[in-house]
Amino acid sequence: MPHKDQPIFILGAGAWGLSTAFHLNKAGYQNITVFEAAESIPSQYSAGYDLNKIVRAEYEDSFYTDLALEAIRGWKTPEFGPYYHQTGYIVATSGKAPQKAKDHLEKALHSVSSHPTFASQITPLKTDAGFRDAAWQFSGPLTGFAGYMNRLAGYAHSSDAMYGIWKLCAARGVKFITGSAGKVIELTYAETRGPNTRRCTGIRTADGQHHQAVTVICALGAYAASLIPAVGNSVVARCWSVAHVQLNKTESDYLRGLPVTNVHDLGFFFEPDPETRLFKLCPLGAGYTNTITTKAAVPSLYRLTPPDAAIGSLPAPQDFIPADDERKLRRLLQETLPWLANRPFVDQKLCWFADTADSDYVIDFVPQTLNSLVVVSGDSGHGFKMMPVFGKWVLNLLEAGQQDEARWKWRQDIEKKDWGDEVSWRIGASKEVSDLIKEKRRLEQARL
Ligand SMILES: Cc1cc2nc3c(=O)[nH]c(=O)nc-3n(C[C@H](O)[C@H](O)[C@H](O)COP(=O)(O)OP(=O)(O)OC[C@H]3O[C@@H](n4cnc5c(N)ncnc54)[C@H](O)[C@@H]3O)c2cc1C
Repeated sequence: MPHKDQPIFILGAGAWGLSTAFHLNKAGYQNITVFEAAESIPSQYSAGYDLNKIVRAEYEDSFYTDLALEAIRGWKTPEFGPYYHQTGYIVATSGKAPQKAKDHLEKALHSVSSHPTFASQITPLKTDAGFRDAAWQFSGPLTGFAGYMNRLAGYAHSSDAMYGIWKLCAARGVKFITGSAGKVIELTYAETRGPNTRRCTGIRTADGQHHQAVTVICALGAYAASLIPAVGNSVVARCWSVAHVQLNKTESDYLRGLPVTNVHDLGFFFEPDPETRLFKLCPLGAGYTNTITTKAAVPSLYRLTPPDAAIGSLPAPQDFIPADDERKLRRLLQETLPWLANRPFVDQKLCWFADTADSDYVIDFVPQTLNSLVVVSGDSGHGFKMMPVFGKWVLNLLEAGQQDEARWKWRQDIEKKDWGDEVSWRIGASKEVSDLIKEKRRLEQARL
């Protein structure tokens, strides 16, 4: 356990790094420095660098439901409240949904309908009229739609939340170093007497500096394996598509208050951002990975990271989403808001997160580092909502000196390489980014 004035480094000022800084600072730790590779915060490399993220507490398993309910209470505090919008959450499947999507919806509905905090907030939606009552703006056919409305949910403005919590932490004395001075290229270690044991002593940054710390907390999201390769045994960097429709003021005002709508076999969308008037959509699917096979990494033979783990120019296609994803989103709009279905998609991108086989987070000391090095990763695409409370779990870990929660322990030996297709709430098959790049080139050549 570090003393309150000993240097603690947090690597990465994404959702979890900032939350960790917030909670450690609140608990009285006075010597916290956050290193962030991006020039400014929010970082363009963060999975949360976005307009919005769903905040909901329905899970198939009550462990995360209870944590997400705690997080929703956190989103209602003065610090996080400015970024939370409780618009409600419509969850549905379309008439063409595969059985897997329907089964997942049934389980989620069961989990929330039987939960004492939720029961009164849930309305099953079985008819067109029911859906239109929940979202009066829906003008599409809603063919075969079935689902429910959960009023105790909504979204967080994710970039604004990261900006706001960064400002707050900086004002309370947390130090932030960004750009090449904040880009960590290496962890430094000192050998110790114990067998195979070494203490993490600090970091080396891209500007050539060496910084020393007593505790280093790696909060690098999808980039975790770039500094701690063994994380790649159990955490895979994966990405999903994001697209937007640019609305004018009237259109944006018309959709104000629209509940977050998640159609499990197609995708989800949010009310437009009033400032930029962008309407964000994400297709739902198993996502894309960038598999790198390397013989050098021991013990893992596979390191799975975003295309440029060192962060720079991503060779992955930008301002592009795969044709299948575009088709899903256009169908989603055709069924719900058909007047938007043929509008151009702007600001298209692939957004990287850190995935685990069972969607459990990894929040633990790295073994054989004498509790000097912590890794938080494996958000599995459902970690932003936890921002108000996440840092408390890191604080608990530091103070307990061990991870008591079995689900969040460091995992050494998972050798299963492609679990993306098996996750219950994702429909379809995972693909490689290299296939997307080929697809993009084909499209470009077809246009010539
Ligand atoms: C398309 C998409 C949709 C999502 N939707 C939701 C949702 O609806 N609800 C939800 O709860 N979650 C959602 N998520 C997941 C959510 O965004 C993540 O769980 C969350 O951002 C994880 O936070 P993090 O701090 O672990 O990683 P990140 O937020 O990605 O932060 C990692 C940080 O590390 C920095 N970094 C990387 N390498 C270095 C280095 N070498 N040196 C210094 N800094 C470095 C990066 O710049 C970045 O700021 C979604 C994710 C995606 C991709």
